[in-house]
Amino acid sequence: MLIFFAVTFTAILIIMSIGQSPISHRVTSSIKPSSGPSNTSKAAFPTPIEEKLAQFEVPILMYHYIRTVDDPEKDKIGAKLSVTPAHFDSQMKWLKNEGYITVNPEYLLSPVKLDKKPIVITFDDGYLDAYTDAYPILKNYDFKATFYIITDSVNSQYYMTWDQIKEMKNYGMNFGSHTSTHPNLTKINNETLDNQLLWSKNKLETELSLSISDFCYPSGKYNDGTITKLKELGYKTAVTTETGIASQKSDLFKLPRKRMEDNSNLALLLAQKD
Ligand SMILES: [Zn+2]
Repeated sequence: MLIFFAVTFTAILIIMSIGQSPISHRVTSSIKPSSGPSNTSKAAFPTPIEEKLAQFEVPILMYHYIRTVDDPEKDKIGAKLSVTPAHFDSQMKWLKNEGYITVNPEYLLSPVKLDKKPIVITFDDGYLDAYTDAYPILKNYDFKATFYIITDSVNSQYYMTWDQIKEMKNYGMNFGSHTSTHPNLTKINNETLDNQLLWSKNKLETELSLSISDFCYPSGKYNDGTITKLKELGYKTAVTTETGIASQKSDLFKLPRKRMEDNSNLALLLAQKD
């Protein structure tokens, strides 16, 4: 009889401990600090430290080339799109000293309170100097950036290679689509539009084993049809060349940016709301 009770009691204890273990695990996981805005794991309960923001401002910086232009008079457009590595370094240093932390455009989908000021740093076109010059400087300041890639240009002269892009992705850099061939999206037929937005997304996702949700309009050109197609294909954000600071008022498919030039004064630029 005693043995019977002992066995029954032990069995009850085992059943109780099995029943409890998932609960104790769920409680533990819910108080684990979030690893940041890119953390997509679903906690069983809301994470207490994540305070959702009803109002926010997130500047998005737009860069093209990080290079020294030999003859700025001869190449005026090229010079306007270029920031020297030395000036880029001092711009990043200023951001660091001012208490900025870099986030991906995805942060805008569900902004939470951070202990530093969030900013998005973007590079258009996927030029080679994004790897040779911008990447090492960003790493020095422990910053992450988003690079919008023209997928058909990868591996060609003046552009990054897939190996370089993969190395940057493994470090934690973010990538978005800038179409396959950089056409004016308002001047192409529906089928071409479909292909430009879909193929570039698929190519990036296959090469990087990542889900791609950020987009950048070539030369800032888009219309309502472009936005409808982007949403249909699963994109979540799109940046423009319109000037301004992204906030709770922004349309996620019409995100404004701050154009960075070689002599840009970040303090002044970020103080101007548009
Ligand atoms: Zn472009």
